[in-house]
Amino acid sequence: MTISEINAYPAYIPTTLDIGPAQAAASLSCCVIEVKTEDGVTGYGYTAITDEEVIVSIIDNLLAPDLKGMSALDREAIAERIYWMVSPRGQTGYGSHAASGVDLALWDILGKVTGQPCWRLLGGARSEVPLYVTFGFGSFDREQLADAARHLRSDGVRRLKMVVGHHALKRVAAGASMSDILKEDIERVRVVREAAGDDADIYIDANCSLDPASAQWLDDRLKDFDIAFFEEPLRGNDTRQLANLRARGTRIAAGQNEGQLFRFRDLLTSGAVDVIQPNVVICGGLTVGQKVAAMADAHQVQLANGGAFPFHNMHLHGGLANGGLVEWHLISVEMGRSLFTDLPDRDGDVLRLPETPGLGFGANLDALREFAAGPLSKGRGKG
Ligand SMILES: [Mg+2]
Repeated sequence: MTISEINAYPAYIPTTLDIGPAQAAASLSCCVIEVKTEDGVTGYGYTAITDEEVIVSIIDNLLAPDLKGMSALDREAIAERIYWMVSPRGQTGYGSHAASGVDLALWDILGKVTGQPCWRLLGGARSEVPLYVTFGFGSFDREQLADAARHLRSDGVRRLKMVVGHHALKRVAAGASMSDILKEDIERVRVVREAAGDDADIYIDANCSLDPASAQWLDDRLKDFDIAFFEEPLRGNDTRQLANLRARGTRIAAGQNEGQLFRFRDLLTSGAVDVIQPNVVICGGLTVGQKVAAMADAHQVQLANGGAFPFHNMHLHGGLANGGLVEWHLISVEMGRSLFTDLPDRDGDVLRLPETPGLGFGANLDALREFAAGPLSKGRGKG
């Protein structure tokens, strides 16, 4: 299983979000990493919410020349080697994205070699995982949000996530009013709660775009809407400030963009989160994801998928006993359908895991080559 070749395919994918009567243009960017072995087995890894051109450069110039000749089965040895190449002084960021893409390809290879799906290799805790559906994007107006929520409820979805504080601090820096943004958020949550009904679980996500005072102000005014968790309310996932917010009774979820184990440890030990959200396309792949899950287990903190990309994260949550909710992020699902073949589909808010060896789906090589030759996002399509 000697690695003979590693390739990176960047992709910027414009798509249309189509939720029954609610439609909007959307886009996402990602990078697919292909690892080939001398035995003819090929694995496909993946990373996203980053700059795909930077990841391609890391793979092409640093990782591919160095990892050729190693065994594709030596995931820990490769993870350690990548760490010292891209994060030698504890940097977070691009390094863990590149490491995730390689690691997922190695797990895909392991599954193909052993004839088992990755979720079973991780432990086979369950053959289907519960989903929540992320639908409430900033591009929808209130009416579209309500239409989409009603449509999803009629399609068997009870768990719904929506964005609040959409790029708030960035917009405020450009002259927007935080007060106006938050007041509109209250109305958006109100129409979703009314459309979804009292028995729906509604999650909100600020994508690290609020300051503590604004997050508290908003949270106080959303108390009547029974929010299931408030995901990444604060800039930079500041652990101390998240812990302060949580101490006021807000149920906090965070961690999707973290790439160092100590950052997850700090979120857990500081009491900053009710739900920790390692994303295997960002945190360092399934190899790191299972370590975060073990820490979460020791702290009796719930595990869930945040940051989208259910087709990779479903394996972690199906494999481990403390696996939790997987995020059916509608834009990332559409993106996955543009790049991969034989993807599983949801049944209401449940996803049955594939029995196909490896990650359980194939790469559409024509699409990968076409997207790689096309325009890059230039930082626009980061989900
Ligand atoms: Mg999120």
